[in-house]
Amino acid sequence: MNDFSRIIIKVGTNTLTGAEDRLDERYLSHLVAQICSAAQNGEVALVTSGAIRTGLTALGLAASRSLRESQAAAAVGQGLLMHHYQRQFQNHGRLVAQVLLTNDAMHNRNRYLNARNTLLTLFEQRVIPIINENDTVATDEIKFGDNDNLAAQVAVMVGADLLIFLSDVDGFYRDHNTKQILPVVEHLTPELEMAAQGPASEKSKGGMTTKIAGAKVATHCGCHVFIAGGRRENVITDILDGENVGTHFLPTRLREGSRKAWIGFSGKVAGELTIDAGAIAALRQQGTSLLPAGITAAGGDFKTGDVVRVVSATGEEIGRGLTNYSAAEINRIKGIHSRLLEQILGYRGDPEVIHRDNFLIYHSLASAA
Ligand code: GLU
Repeated sequence: MNDFSRIIIKVGTNTLTGAEDRLDERYLSHLVAQICSAAQNGEVALVTSGAIRTGLTALGLAASRSLRESQAAAAVGQGLLMHHYQRQFQNHGRLVAQVLLTNDAMHNRNRYLNARNTLLTLFEQRVIPIINENDTVATDEIKFGDNDNLAAQVAVMVGADLLIFLSDVDGFYRDHNTKQILPVVEHLTPELEMAAQGPASEKSKGGMTTKIAGAKVATHCGCHVFIAGGRRENVITDILDGENVGTHFLPTRLREGSRKAWIGFSGKVAGELTIDAGAIAALRQQGTSLLPAGITAAGGDFKTGDVVRVVSATGEEIGRGLTNYSAAEINRIKGIHSRLLEQILGYRGDPEVIHRDNFLIYHSLASAA
């Protein structure tokens, strides 16, 4: 048995419904039985799609034609979905909790911590959190867009050590024609990411691209990730038993602290700093703080304490951090030595623009999700 203590399982709409347009009760009961068995030795949360499809079916609509229709369908379907899960989990003596998130809850540090504390408390209480996007209120600006991204964000937020994407494909194919599954991915290279860009199935939002993007984020935060066929019998149990199932993405980094993970992957980005090659080398090789001397440009209208993206001259994302200075201030101090700060600004500020403790540097990523 593999030693995973905190597990996030994501199941997509197509897997839940199979060939039909409605929830497949038999499948749901298998899924729930496996989750409950995993929850005997660890903490498990389920990220589930299916609200919109279930709602549309209940309303007798074939497909939503507008945003308001899918939001209304989600409002109908989410309740039905929870009802089914609640009944199934109850058969195993388990309580469930509904947790609906939007991306702006992730962007804002206080709301993020609230959501995190709620989930950790539910784990303590041995309750299974059942998580979905709050589709009814989610407009474009605050949308996760897809539950693959949501699941990866949740995995990072609670410091999960395993994230399983249960999908309608059996794993990650290097080549769509041969349908050969890659059993293990040690590093998500740009070539592999390209290979993921096959078409999403007609009914699903994400497809492979969003799963790979999610895997990239989670593995960077020390989490193991699997993409596996959700309808494979005992898929979760087999993964936990260490059997060869689907594609296993190995963590590329040790677990990041929760605060740094938030800065790097969840916090709302308010602007951008461009830095020179010397600063990039120092950051990557020594994990130093970012000083004004290495900055060549500041873009956006950000304030002290905001999350900013740090990029190279060619636009490659190097990392993200909390800035000690606003955009206007950085435009005055960029390129200068820290000892001249007081003279230029007229007050004594921090010598660093981004302190190393507030800086997440992407090592193996070309860019973050
Ligand atoms: N939140 C949507 C639903 O429950 C699904 C989004 C997705 O599958 O990515 O219907």
